[in-house]
Amino acid sequence: MSECVFCRIARGEAPARLVYQDEDVTAFYDRNPRAPTHVLIIPNRHIAGVAQAEPEDAAVLGKLLIVARQVAEQEGIASGYRLVVNNGRLAGQSVFHLHVHLLGGRPLGWPPG
Ligand code: 5GP
Ligand code: ZN
Repeated sequence: MSECVFCRIARGEAPARLVYQDEDVTAFYDRNPRAPTHVLIIPNRHIAGVAQAEPEDAAVLGKLLIVARQVAEQEGIASGYRLVVNNGRLAGQSVFHLHVHLLGGRPLGWPPG
């Protein structure tokens, strides 16, 4: 999956502003931020989306949320933030490597568009 940009970021082969990385997960700033804080949290191993996740991915999927919470605290937005996972083109997914958007730093309307 070397053509996948998020795989390349996780391997350090494509540039990104990393905020966290360990053996399972990488977090980096979105290049087109939709809020004052906009970070993407990804599994290092390629999973195309929620629809393609398998039961054995459960641990890493859970870790994405734990890391998102840690990054929210680090970024000073722990009092209010939103986690978004777009699944499928109709929902706005444009990169087919599963990612959690961490958005915060401004009031967030509900429902999302
Ligand atoms: P999606 O639309 O799939 O839910 O979200 C993809 C996100 O990835 C978008 O917010 C987009 O700005 C971001 N993105 C796409 N390519 C890159 C990249 O090469 N680097 C970074 N930092 N963000 C990217
Ligand atoms: Zn990938």
